[in-house]
Amino acid sequence: MTATPRLLIVGPQGSGKGTQGLRIAEAFGIPAVSTGDVFRANIAEGTDLGRQVQAIIAAGDLVPDELTSAVVRDRLAQADAAVGFLLDGYPRNLGQVADLDGFLESRDESLAAVVELSVPRDESISRLARRAEEQGRTDDTEEVIANRLAIYERETAPILDVYRERGLVDAIDGVGSLDEITERILVALIARGLNPAS
Ligand code: AMP
Repeated sequence: MTATPRLLIVGPQGSGKGTQGLRIAEAFGIPAVSTGDVFRANIAEGTDLGRQVQAIIAAGDLVPDELTSAVVRDRLAQADAAVGFLLDGYPRNLGQVADLDGFLESRDESLAAVVELSVPRDESISRLARRAEEQGRTDDTEEVIANRLAIYERETAPILDVYRERGLVDAIDGVGSLDEITERILVALIARGLNPAS
């Protein structure tokens, strides 16, 4: 029996984790859950949650853990996540790692792998500048980008140490063509006994 693909993809803004996350999720037939996308959809729809997080996201700060972890718990409790899931943008700090651990333990589940997507800082900044032109996201201004990258270094990078100690991290070079990078990730996951065809 192959392990259930419960996956995380972690990398700085502009590393391409959103794009690669969707490709990997499709390959495994599992839902890709991006907390950033969930928040943006709620803002667009004008929900209570959207109103609560709008200013925080515009400033590039982190939404409080209680709110974020509740969103993730609700989403992962849905039926389609029973076959596995790929989380993009969560956990983002050590508190959220503890929240996710608690949730998975309560269901007798565990993570199968954490994909760390690395790109040099210059490359991620130029990719973000391009995305700002293409998508017009309010949090892709120069000042907000700098804040988000600083938060990544300070709060998010340390979660990789925790997962590395657990032997879960696959470090992937995020520079190359989209297909090359997807292939690198799939090779690493297959080496863990995860089966994209299943
Ligand atoms: P992203 O699309 O992943 O870059 O997320 C966009 C914004 O949503 C972030 O800059 C945060 O303001 C918020 N956000 C997304 N995921 C999280 C999270 N796990 N914890 C706190 N805030 C988050």
